[in-house]
Amino acid sequence: MISVRELTKQYGGIQAISNVSFDVQQGSIVGLLGQNGAGKTTVMKILTGFLEPTSGTVLVGEKDVRTQRTEVQGHIGYMPENAPLYDEMLVQEYLMMMAELRGIENNQLVSAVKEALEVTGLRSRAIQPIGTLSKGYRQRVGLAQAIIHRPEVLVLDEPTNGLHPVQILEIRSLIKNLAKTTTVIVSTHILSEIEAVCDRVVILIDGEVAADESLATLLSAQQVELKFTDSIPTDVKTKLMALGGVSAVRVDEALSQITVDCKDASGLSREVLKSVQDFGWTLEAVYPLTPSLETVFRNLMAEKATSHSVQEAVA
Ligand code: ATP
Repeated sequence: MISVRELTKQYGGIQAISNVSFDVQQGSIVGLLGQNGAGKTTVMKILTGFLEPTSGTVLVGEKDVRTQRTEVQGHIGYMPENAPLYDEMLVQEYLMMMAELRGIENNQLVSAVKEALEVTGLRSRAIQPIGTLSKGYRQRVGLAQAIIHRPEVLVLDEPTNGLHPVQILEIRSLIKNLAKTTTVIVSTHILSEIEAVCDRVVILIDGEVAADESLATLLSAQQVELKFTDSIPTDVKTKLMALGGVSAVRVDEALSQITVDCKDASGLSREVLKSVQDFGWTLEAVYPLTPSLETVFRNLMAEKATSHSVQEAVA
């Protein structure tokens, strides 16, 4: 549905993003994850047609954001980080204004505002001045204006930023509800947000895509831990390396424990259990180690730092 290809953006001498490419399938919730300054807002602004890239393309459906901006914007709802709201306006007044600005037909305005109020749980606040709303409700108004024209794609920039835990849960469940009928791209620097909301994640590090995977693949186990009852047999490394997909074996004699890096941890665990009698090993436990998103993110950061220092050394 959305195809982002080799996006690059330079602000003067600052390279904000480089060669960013990823796809978003219809109906999915994709998380754009990265630390402050990683380039998330830049990608989102380009995607929604509010910023010109230095190079690269974004297609929404078959339409190019650069050349068919107005048309594309009709299909996208955008909630910028700290969406500008008019404090003195009533919630429904503001939404009515946004509905008009989005070109909704006069006879559809009232129903569009009603629907947005309903979906975002703002009905009871409709005639409250925006300036008197709590931060969580202000975020809901930001969401309501983004969905007022019933877009097929929603782009949400740090939608839970600055909210307290209960408000965060409320906004997350709202996003999940919206995602039942809309494709959603949401940016965050909070790892737990990705795990709670998204089914796919694009990780940006220093303006480059460091990972673009389904959450299930990214968090699939690629290590097995073996705990021996007594001391570790001498042939253990050779026997494990002979099993399929094993790339490294680390031995911790003190803990009688072995960590195996492999392609498919569940498959390898089953194979070890099948072979354990033939090998003559006495094991206390065999289990696949599932990485946390934090571990994956830290490893990617470390890889990036290593590749940079290698590049600098070569140069
Ligand atoms: P945050 O989580 O802090 O909002 P981000 O991942 O959204 O960060 P961007 O706002 O896209 O990151 O910024 C990426 C880089 O581009 C940063 O180094 C930032 O300082 C720089 N940048 C962003 N906007 C501008 C601008 N208008 N002029 C100059 N540099 C900019």
